[in-house]
Amino acid sequence: MNMKEPVITISNINHYYGKGALKKQILFNINLEIYAGEIVIMTGPSGSGKTTLLSLIGGLRSVQEGSLQFLGKELFGASQTKLVQSRRKIGYIFQAHNLLGFLTARQNVQMAVELNQRISQSEAIKRSEAMLSAVGLAERINYYPDNLSGGQKQRIAIARALVNQPPLVLADEPTAALDKQSGRDVVEIMQHLAKEQGTAILLVTHDNRILDIADRIVEMEDGLLTRDTQNPPMNSKVGVPISEHN
Ligand code: ADP
Ligand code: MG
Repeated sequence: MNMKEPVITISNINHYYGKGALKKQILFNINLEIYAGEIVIMTGPSGSGKTTLLSLIGGLRSVQEGSLQFLGKELFGASQTKLVQSRRKIGYIFQAHNLLGFLTARQNVQMAVELNQRISQSEAIKRSEAMLSAVGLAERINYYPDNLSGGQKQRIAIARALVNQPPLVLADEPTAALDKQSGRDVVEIMQHLAKEQGTAILLVTHDNRILDIADRIVEMEDGLLTRDTQNPPMNSKVGVPISEHN
């Protein structure tokens, strides 16, 4: 992939919920570009519009105003078929892992492979097992989610999101339900795999302790992007991450 061309280009996005007198603007003139292999962390208070923006980027909601290009393709005015096509190129990781309880770790990952790619079952199993090993779950491949810890379940969700090597991963507060160390482990695994695969990551978090894994930090406040900075800042002589000043 051309590193110069953004994976995502967002220009002048506005978004509204409700109709008529109840219509309320949630996003205001959002502009954002994300490049291949870049890890962007989005912070901001609850209710500021982060999940709404993620759902637009993920093709889970239709763009109402403005332009949103994913891999050079415009999503504004795109048909449902086009949105489905773009969704297939995105890995999703949510706060709750959304694993299927009646499937083992391997089967949860394998399903994502088989939905996306026409490959033999044995190849899908091989890829799923390799991915679970990459997130440190080689010994837990045949476990059901109920028998695994929160951190382990979230690692399965990461394996599932990354197994098809998507150009973009969207993660909405993936560490919110985890203790400090599991949260740290989970984002470090994401960071490592993303750099290896050239995957761009947009990760929403309230967790200040993981800001240092970001290449860039953007901040949402009341539906506006109020900050978009390199991490650590380019002009930082000592290279102290921004998080330590806050
Ligand atoms: P965040 O993820 O930053 O907490 P959200 O994008 O979830 O913010 O929500 C932004 C605002 O939009 C909030 O005021 C929320 O109540 C409202 N909102 C979110 N989803 C809907 C919806 N489906 N219908 C109406 N209002 C919504
Ligand atoms: Mg949210």
